[in-house]
Amino acid sequence: MDKSKRKTIIAGNWKMNKTMSEALDLTNQIKPLTNGADCEVVLCVPFTNLETVINALKGTDIKVGAQNVHFEHSGAFTGEISVGMLKELGVQHVIVGHSERRQYFGETDETVNKRAKSALQGNLMPIICVGELLWEREAGITEEVLSRQLKLSLAGIPDNDITKVIIAYEPVWAIGTGKTATSEQAEQACKFIRLCIEKLYKNELADSLSILYGGSMNASNAEQLLAKEDVDGGLIGGASLKALDFGEIVKAASIIV
Ligand code: PEP
Repeated sequence: MDKSKRKTIIAGNWKMNKTMSEALDLTNQIKPLTNGADCEVVLCVPFTNLETVINALKGTDIKVGAQNVHFEHSGAFTGEISVGMLKELGVQHVIVGHSERRQYFGETDETVNKRAKSALQGNLMPIICVGELLWEREAGITEEVLSRQLKLSLAGIPDNDITKVIIAYEPVWAIGTGKTATSEQAEQACKFIRLCIEKLYKNELADSLSILYGGSMNASNAEQLLAKEDVDGGLIGGASLKALDFGEIVKAASIIV
C-alpha cells in the first residue's frame, strides 16, 4: 500500500444550508484559503447554489459537486435532477448514498448503485458513502455492514470505472454529532474498505482508490485522522460551513500530501 499513489481529497458537504447570496459569500471566503492547495478540494453545495458557486470558482482548482443525482436521464420524476443537468452546469462530483438520504429519503444500497452507475456513465465522479449505525458498531457487525454496502453499491461497476469512484467512510454515529471516530477506528474501517475493494477488483485499483473519512472532522482533529495510511481525505459537513475551519482542514491535508 502506498498512500502517495492516491489523490488526497477534502470535500465539503454543505447539506441544506446557504441561500444563493450566502453561498457566494462563503465561496469567496473559502477561495483564497484553499486555492492552490496540495490536495483536491471539492465543494458539494445545494442544487440551487451550483451555478453561483461554479461561476465564483472559475479560474481556480476547486471543484464543485452536487449532493444527490437521479439515475434516469429524464422523465416523470418530480423534484429530481439528472446527470445531464449537473454536467451541463460544470459539476464534476456527486455525493451518493449519504446516510441522511438513507435515513430520511428511502435511499438503499440498490438505489445507491443505480445512481453511482448513472453518474459514471455521464462522467460524474460519485462519492459513495458507506458506514455503520451505532447499534451495528456496538453489535460488532461494522465490517459485515461495510462489506454488504460496498458489494451492493458497486455491483456491475467495471474495473475502468472504479478508478473514478471515491468512497467515503462515514460512521453514522459520528455525523453531525460532534462524536468523531478515533483515528484508529477510522484507519481500521478505511483499511477494511480497501480490502473489500481488493476482493472485488484488482489490487492496484484498490491501492489507487481514494477513501475519505467523514464524521465530525474539524480543524482540531483533521491532521491526526488524515495522517493515517488508509485515510485519503475527508468529507466534511458542519466544519465546511466555516471558511476558516475548512481552510485549516485543507491545510492539514496539504501537509500530509
Ligand atoms: C457529512 O455530512 O457528511 C458529515 C460528515 O457531517 P459532519 O462533518 O457535520 O459530521
